[in-house]
Amino acid sequence: YTMRKNIVAGNWKMNTDLAETQDLISGLKKIAKTSNAEVIIAPPFVNLYSAFESVKGLDITVAAQNMHQSDSGAFTGEISASMLKSIGVNTVILGHSERRAFFNEKEDLLAEKVNTALENDMTVIYCFGEELKDRKFSEHFEVVHKQISNALFHLDASAWENIVLAYEPVWAIGTGETASPDQAQEMHAYIRKTIADEYSENVAEKVTILYGGSVKPNNAEEIFSKPDVDGGLIGGASLKAEDFMAIVNAF
Ligand code: PEP
Repeated sequence: YTMRKNIVAGNWKMNTDLAETQDLISGLKKIAKTSNAEVIIAPPFVNLYSAFESVKGLDITVAAQNMHQSDSGAFTGEISASMLKSIGVNTVILGHSERRAFFNEKEDLLAEKVNTALENDMTVIYCFGEELKDRKFSEHFEVVHKQISNALFHLDASAWENIVLAYEPVWAIGTGETASPDQAQEMHAYIRKTIADEYSENVAEKVTILYGGSVKPNNAEEIFSKPDVDGGLIGGASLKAEDFMAIVNAF
């Protein structure tokens, strides 16, 4: 798994005003990065440009938390791929469980968003994961299979160079309850096999698969030590510079 990129991405969600964005980035600047993981931060739209300017010279990529599927037009309140690109943002998180749950985003829509992002030469962090009830009924593998295949299996193998997967069991997001390292590894291995079966071993071996769900400084190292876990998508703990950098440096 040395051929894959390790990534630690911070999803700031609807937190951090302008001053807080600056403070958090200043905090990140003060802590040395000792791992080889690629670092991504995803502040709210309104502060993306400021964040992009502030991280110049640092080894940090700025990503958006969402994006509209159309290029432009009468979609009040929405943000397009070309707008993001125009301020230097080339990475977008799509399909986060909160977008699915509170904004009714379904996989047919997410497939369109993925296509638009890729047409614009962006990197997609595609999020998915089962709910607690799915795991209780032992349907978590089936649910995850559908979430991946419905949104991504129309893509050519070459498109996968710009796809990062983020497995985030909904029951672990913001709850303080993490999947155990073995549960994460089991699902990540299943995801990689699913990609290998649909495409090839080569595509599967190259795709970075992040785990998300209550990753903290005290559990990151054990989760990241699993062979198919290539990094993390971090919510709550990405809002504190020391915690986030401790997770980055857990690699
Ligand atoms: C997330 O929202 O992507 C997430 C993983 O949140 P938290 O780390 O707070 O569980």
